[in-house]
Amino acid sequence: MTTISWWDQAACKGLTSLFFFERGDMTTARQAKQVCSTCPVRRACLDDAIVWGDDHGVWGGMTERERRVEIRRRGGRTPRSPRERRCA
Ligand code: SF4
Repeated sequence: MTTISWWDQAACKGLTSLFFFERGDMTTARQAKQVCSTCPVRRACLDDAIVWGDDHGVWGGMTERERRVEIRRRGGRTPRSPRERRCA
């Protein structure tokens, strides 16, 4: 049986170097966020990054700093189950 995950639909497949960059490299961050803006699974990606605590690079269209703000906006909570996740 083959499992299809949201990653299979990721707009950044093959572009990983664009998403991991030196801290403060906002030019590359903006390029990565541009790819995210077209991604059909942005919401699932963001939720996973928050759940797993990915703290570097762009995930779900947000930088590390923007994800920290998003976590606070959510009241410090993370999604409880994959069912709560929706694709953007
Ligand atoms: S939202 Fe961005 S980082 Fe996440 S899968 Fe899509 S393109 Fe990749």
